[in-house]
Amino acid sequence: YGTLHGKVALVTGGSRGIGAATARRLAREGADVAVTYVNGKEAAEEVVQAVQALGRRGVALRADSADPDEAAGAARRTAEALGRLDVLVNNAGVGVLGPLEDLSLTDVDQVLAVNVRGVFLTSRAAAAHMGAGGRIITIGSCMAQRVPGPGGTLYATSKSALIGLTKALARELGPRGITANIVHPGPIDTDMNPSNGPFAPAQSAMTALGRFGTAEEVASTVAYLAAAEFITGAEFAVDGGHAA
Ligand code: NDP
Repeated sequence: YGTLHGKVALVTGGSRGIGAATARRLAREGADVAVTYVNGKEAAEEVVQAVQALGRRGVALRADSADPDEAAGAARRTAEALGRLDVLVNNAGVGVLGPLEDLSLTDVDQVLAVNVRGVFLTSRAAAAHMGAGGRIITIGSCMAQRVPGPGGTLYATSKSALIGLTKALARELGPRGITANIVHPGPIDTDMNPSNGPFAPAQSAMTALGRFGTAEEVASTVAYLAAAEFITGAEFAVDGGHAA
């Protein structure tokens, strides 16, 4: 049995990238896992198959974090499908970067709806299902801590909001034995930020280790926090030294 045996986890945006790696890792630790997706139905189902191959239960839920009802509903649907909810990983996010003057009102609304409002609503709904031992782990960004160049106004706004949310959740839910923590990935090789993209060499150069990280390297920290007992309201850089 792994450290999360008997627990149920929900990973938002679990069809690809960091979310998919996290879903597989939590299953390896013994958790049953629900993942949400929007467009990646087949990819989400492949993640569920990987979870099931590890002997755990898995379910893929289509739930757009930008939609308030769907963002909150994902927690309820997880508890219905898998019987309980212990661990929420707020991973779904969109990265819209660009010059200040080029960001449209649609961009502003979409990024804030997915990266901030959706996280708030899913966390609130999940907390209603959690008992003592509940865990809320949110994926922030190294750009919530340091913005290394132009183009990040909207994205950094959204990700730094999650630091405040995490600390406030820790205070509010601590008396119930529920923890809330935030993980700040540096450059991680995914569809959102491919390690062979045009801006990749500059990002690698900003890290102390001189390379991109892998989704699995973020997932291992999330799994650690899912099992940790006395850590709450804390920020964890998994960034190869981007913030050093
Ligand atoms: P990807 O773009 O590779 O994957 C995004 C995942 O989120 C997909 O599963 C996608 O689902 C899902 N998703 C996107 N929009 C929504 C939505 N509105 N509702 C529900 N699910 C959604 O991203 P990464 O894995 O790279 O990023 C994961 C998280 O990590 C994000 O919060 C991102 O901001 C953060 N991050 C990433 C970094 C990086 O370098 N990669 C660095 C710092 C932070 P579908 O397949 O259905 O589209």
